[in-house]
Amino acid sequence: MANRWGIPKHVEEFVKNRDTKCVYCGVEFSIENSSPKDKPSWEHIVNDIRINGADNIALCCMSCNASKGSKLLEDWLKSDYCKKKEITVDSVDEVVIEALKNPR
Ligand SMILES: [Zn+2]
Repeated sequence: MANRWGIPKHVEEFVKNRDTKCVYCGVEFSIENSSPKDKPSWEHIVNDIRINGADNIALCCMSCNASKGSKLLEDWLKSDYCKKKEITVDSVDEVVIEALKNPR
């Protein structure tokens, strides 16, 4: 069974438990009164919906997701958004670092 983004159920459960904060900017998803921008959204780290494993699926905030869009991760990390939020190759979550280290 897969959800509407084509993510297998077991991957969805795994990632929900793993990513309690945005894998990019680190905003916590658990805060009750967080703004809609800080809500979690499904992210394919490498923009390929065929890669459905837990190493490519992550939760990031709406704000990061909207900014990243269809950009390549490497390119997006150089964007003004990331500069402003101080998101760098070293500050992102481990799962993102791994994806950067292992280009497909
Ligand atoms: Zn974020």
